Amino acid sequence: MQITVLSGGMGGAKFLQGLLHAQHTGLLPDGEITVVANTADDIWIHGLKVCPDLDTVMYTLGDGIDLERGWGRREETWSAKDELAAYGVEPTWFGLGDRDIATHLVRTQMLDAGFPLSQVTQALCQRWLSPIFGNGVRLLPMTDDRVETHIAIADAEAPSGRRAVHFQEYWVRLRAEVPAEAVVVVGLEESKPGPGVVEAITEADLVLLPPSNPVVSVGTILGVPGVRKAISATPAPVVGLSPIVGGSHVRGMAEQLLTSIGVEVSAAGVGLHYGPRSTGGVLDGWLVDSLDADDVARVEAAGVSCRAVPLMMTDHDATAAMAAAAVELAGL
Ligand code: GDP
Ligand code: CA
Repeated sequence: MQITVLSGGMGGAKFLQGLLHAQHTGLLPDGEITVVANTADDIWIHGLKVCPDLDTVMYTLGDGIDLERGWGRREETWSAKDELAAYGVEPTWFGLGDRDIATHLVRTQMLDAGFPLSQVTQALCQRWLSPIFGNGVRLLPMTDDRVETHIAIADAEAPSGRRAVHFQEYWVRLRAEVPAEAVVVVGLEESKPGPGVVEAITEADLVLLPPSNPVVSVGTILGVPGVRKAISATPAPVVGLSPIVGGSHVRGMAEQLLTSIGVEVSAAGVGLHYGPRSTGGVLDGWLVDSLDADDVARVEAAGVSCRAVPLMMTDHDATAAMAAAAVELAGL
């Protein structure tokens, strides 16, 4: 079975671990997994190209992630960051660890030499994914083009009363503590799907939307021109798992961003926002947490098969069971 997963960073990566665990323990049959990852969180920092979601997926599956933080390298040190701060170089709020910097150096050098991000990612994955999975797990950036999410926040000193900050600044420096007034994904409309992205969707046996941020992770992937068309064209069932449990986002900032785009912060709200594939949406099936069992009827009434199962990714077994429930809901 070929499974394609449209992933953000931490939520997506954790789900992917569970999916692989389900395959390794025989809960699900073996098969190839293609990850189409969000690149709209990408940022240039100190002349380096940083791709947080690609790296979180790569480090998590490659067993190099810092498990406590959920991002960056394990056993990290921060000398370069401290040295840059000692020079007074801005920004100082972005965590660039010494080990992590090696990844960004390799990436930036390859980009400077003219390689597209997709090829750079493949080269980085030679170290992290190939030794473990062979060709069984592929990581594809959603696009090779520069796409960046910016968040509009209130600013009394700006002539318009608003100012836009890069998504990373909103999340890391401002900790998503001020309201997001709008989400603007710069470059998205002009972007093209990365090599293999459309085929990964149209040739899959199953397409999964993991519990990733519906606005700035899955939302941006779906916004790459051609991706929605591939989703409506694929013969594969498309099943999503709610990132909202009991009306809250578990971790992250999905609540703030859903509110900013006018989507109800609930499992049903996100499911209905994605919408049924039969009427131009992206879902055939939607899993909500057991806490949200009352949401099932509303989602089904809209034409999306829906079940309530435990959706907290507390450990590999719990997450593997979520992946198996998604496969079952797809009727596979
Ligand atoms: P990011 O790029 O690191 O923000 O990661 P993603 O976009 O992949 O996923 C973040 C989202 O995953 C969060 O906003 C949460 O809504 C969701 N999430 C995190 N942990 C859990 C969990 O245990 N269960 C569920 N259902 N959702 C979760
Ligand atoms: Ca992200």
